[in-house]
Amino acid sequence: MKRVILLTITVIAILIFVSGCKQRTNNNGQNKNGKITITATIFPPYDFVRAIAGDTVNLSMLLPPASESHSFEPTPKDIITIQNSDIFIYVGGESDAWVNRILESMDTRTMTIIALMDTVDVVEEEVVEGMEAEEEEEPAYDEHVWTSPQNAGRIVRSIADALCKTDTANADFYRQNAADYIAQLEKLDAEFQAVTGNANRKTIIFGDRFPFRYFADRYGLSYFAAFPGCSTETEPSAATVAFLIDKIKRERIPVVFHIELGNERMADTIAEETGAKKLLLHACHNISKKDFENGATYLDLMRMNVENLRRALQ
Ligand SMILES: [Zn+2]
Repeated sequence: MKRVILLTITVIAILIFVSGCKQRTNNNGQNKNGKITITATIFPPYDFVRAIAGDTVNLSMLLPPASESHSFEPTPKDIITIQNSDIFIYVGGESDAWVNRILESMDTRTMTIIALMDTVDVVEEEVVEGMEAEEEEEPAYDEHVWTSPQNAGRIVRSIADALCKTDTANADFYRQNAADYIAQLEKLDAEFQAVTGNANRKTIIFGDRFPFRYFADRYGLSYFAAFPGCSTETEPSAATVAFLIDKIKRERIPVVFHIELGNERMADTIAEETGAKKLLLHACHNISKKDFENGATYLDLMRMNVENLRRALQ
């Protein structure tokens, strides 16, 4: 609660400051090259905009690479960045409660705001057998909508529409790039279909959190994992670990997955106990500094997922 009050005070203070200098920013700030300004909170929409718009726009990602997206707190500079955006893209789930508080206190009349969760059909986070749920929690909609390439295509369409409306001079360019990118997403989707369609098994195991609900639904996979996708827990109970070990042994599952930027300790333990290989299934929530600097894309990471999934379903 204290954090909420503090944040609110910060937002109000900053907005007073920003409204004082907004005029100046507009005249010789972000629009000096005639480019529109787009801010995305996390990596997938940032990467989608980059694919559709390239250098035609001023684009920034709010979450620093490698940072934990579930406990993000905006800095005063972040709030100014949002305020100065022509298009602002966020997820719209539980982890984004801070976004709603900020937007409520901002003048958003000239801003196009896209919540990824509004662009697809959302499903609730699931607690499957063996999983540790957080106590006293209402079931929430799963935020990780981009993990299904089919959803990514829907998100790209929404972003392209916003770009075309906001920057009509470049609309043809955006439309063509979006069409090309969606074709690549469809190819990726077909690769996952082929891997899962020809597979010996349909069950995947995560010694980690599970942010792949949309992905698993799309490809008819069942799964067992230690925690739901947005759980803040990282230390599993002995019973949870034993359950996952037993599953792997019983069904002779060759791979235990972990997700990106975690500690991997649980997956290591399970791999040691079962002889299963530990592999990464990248949820693209955020990426490492090194990947970011090397220009890694959603498509790159997802293509690695195709290979690792193939090995897991053998
Ligand atoms: Zn999450």
